[in-house]
Amino acid sequence: MPLRIKPRQKLVPGVLAAELMAPCGMDCGLCMAFVRDKNGCLGCRAGDEGKAKSCLACSIRNCEVIRSAEAHFCSDECGRFPCPRLKRLDARYRQKYRMSMLENLRAIQHEGVDAFVASERERWVCPECGGLQCVHIPECVYCGHT
Ligand code: SF4
Ligand code: SF4
Ligand SMILES: [Zn+2]
Repeated sequence: MPLRIKPRQKLVPGVLAAELMAPCGMDCGLCMAFVRDKNGCLGCRAGDEGKAKSCLACSIRNCEVIRSAEAHFCSDECGRFPCPRLKRLDARYRQKYRMSMLENLRAIQHEGVDAFVASERERWVCPECGGLQCVHIPECVYCGHT
């Protein structure tokens, strides 16, 4: 299958980090916007530069519980967890992108974010070339392995 994108700079799983875990459970290090060379986004927690309008307007990122810094991540400590917006996002990612925000959030809550990031580094490594897989692309963006 032809590669849809091939970034010049090859990312490896070691770039994944706790700071790249968004409040909603998205691992921003696996996002196409993070992987691409041009107009990249440095992750949900990294300021507004390079962010799509939809990310800037995200109701989870802008949720008052998250904004008040009472919570670093959505969790069952929030009385509305999982709120409709989070459920919709989770359903879309489970259906289209082999990933569940709610599973990620539960693992973060139970194991801690550092242990979760360590498991993500193992899960998303390309067995063929060692590159970091992108959640939005079914094949490895560097070598095409599926
Ligand atoms: S576009 Fe959104 S999901 Fe992707 S890296 Fe940026 S903040 Fe994260
Ligand atoms: S689950 Fe709670 S903290 Fe997370 S976005 Fe919904 S209301 Fe905000
Ligand atoms: Zn590869």
